[in-house]
Amino acid sequence: MSDVAAAALVEPPLGLLAELTHRCPLRCPYCSNPTALTRAAEELDTATWARVFGEAAALGVLHLHLSGGEPTARRDLPALVRAASEAGLYSNLITAGVLLDAARLEALAAAGLDHVQLSVQDAEPGAADRIGGMAGGHARKLEAARLIRAAGLPLTLNAVVHRQNLDRLPGLIALALELGAGRLEVAHVQYHGWALANRAALLPSRAQLDAAAATVEAARAAHRGRLVIDHVIPDYHARRPKPCMGGWGRRVLVVSPAGKALPCHAAESLPGLQFPSVREASLAAIWHRSDAFNRFRGTAAWMPEPCRSCERREVDFGGCRCQAFALTGDAAATDPACALAPHRALLDRALGEAAAGDARLADRAFGRPPPPRRRGGHGPRRRGSCRRAR
Ligand code: SF4
Ligand code: SF4
Repeated sequence: MSDVAAAALVEPPLGLLAELTHRCPLRCPYCSNPTALTRAAEELDTATWARVFGEAAALGVLHLHLSGGEPTARRDLPALVRAASEAGLYSNLITAGVLLDAARLEALAAAGLDHVQLSVQDAEPGAADRIGGMAGGHARKLEAARLIRAAGLPLTLNAVVHRQNLDRLPGLIALALELGAGRLEVAHVQYHGWALANRAALLPSRAQLDAAAATVEAARAAHRGRLVIDHVIPDYHARRPKPCMGGWGRRVLVVSPAGKALPCHAAESLPGLQFPSVREASLAAIWHRSDAFNRFRGTAAWMPEPCRSCERREVDFGGCRCQAFALTGDAAATDPACALAPHRALLDRALGEAAAGDARLADRAFGRPPPPRRRGGHGPRRRGSCRRAR
C-alpha cells in the first residue's frame, strides 16, 4: 500500500513523546526505568532528533514532549528545542528540574520552549528527598519553578502520588499555587516496572482516594480561573480502564533514546513485536505501515470478548496492552482494570495485599532490574509517572 493510501486509513498522531535519554540523577521507587538502559553513547544525536521533529510536524504532530529519564541531562537540549520550534511544534519540557539553573532556562526560553512540566515527589521536603533519593532535590525543584516562571514560561506541576504522600495532597495544591503553576496534575503512580515491585508499599487505599477526590473538587471550586487540576482515578480502583495513550497507534507515538518508535513507553516489553527505528525508516512509514503500530490498532480482529461486543470498545479500546500482558501474560487480553475482565481478581488481590503490606520500598540503582515477581505481578518497563505526557 502506498503512503497516500495508508494515510487515508489512519488519523495522524497529535503528540510525539521524545525520550531523549534514560539518564536521571533521581531514584524514584516508581520510575519504570528499563532493565537495560540506553547509554549516552547510544542515544540519537542532535541532527537525527531534528530530522525526526521535522518528520513529525509533516505527519501532523502538534505537541512535542521532551522527556527522559531527565531530558536536561542532554547538553544539546537548547538546540533540540530550537529544531522543534523551527519545525512548528509546540514544545513541552517534562523535567525533574534538579539540573536546571538560570542560564539553562534562559537558553531554553530563547530557543523557543513553550511550556514546562515539573515533577515533585511530595509537599514535605524530607519526604520528597527520601522518595527521589537526592538530598536537597526538593529545594532545587522549588528554585527551578521560580526560574521557570521568571523566564516567562507557563508551568504545570506534576505531583506523583501514592499511599505514602496522598494524604498531603492539600499541601501539594498549596505548593502549586505558591509556585505560580497554571495546572496541577495529580498523577497516580502507574504500576509497571519498579512501581510494580513496590506496589504493596505504594497502592493507596479506597479511603485515601475518596478523600483525595473530595480535596480536588473543593480546590477546583476555590481556585477556578487560577489553577486547573487534573485528577484521574487510578486503574486499580477504577471500574473501567482508560484508553492507554489514547488508543494504540491512535494519538501519540514515542521515540526511545536509541531511536525505537513505539506506540507506548512500555511496548518493548511485549513479545513478538519488532519496533522500527527512526534511524532506518521515516516516521510516516512507521506510523502508517509498520506491523507494530497496526498490531493492536482500533477494534479489529485482535480484540477478544468481552471487549469485542462491548459498547465501550471505541472509548477505551480494551485498556492498556502492556498492563494486560504484565498481569495476565497475554497482550491481547482485556485489561484487568476493567470490572468485566476475566482477570479482574488480580487487581482486587493486589489491593488486599497493599492493605496488609508495609511501607518498605526496594532500593533502586541505575540499570539494576526490579526484583522478580510471579505472574500476575512481574511487569514490563514503563516510564514513571513523573513524565506523563498530556
Ligand atoms: S520518576 Fe522521573 S525523576 Fe524519578 S527517577 Fe524516574 S525519571 Fe527520574
Ligand atoms: S469490556 Fe473491554 S471495551 Fe468494555 S469496558 Fe471493559 S475493557 Fe472496555
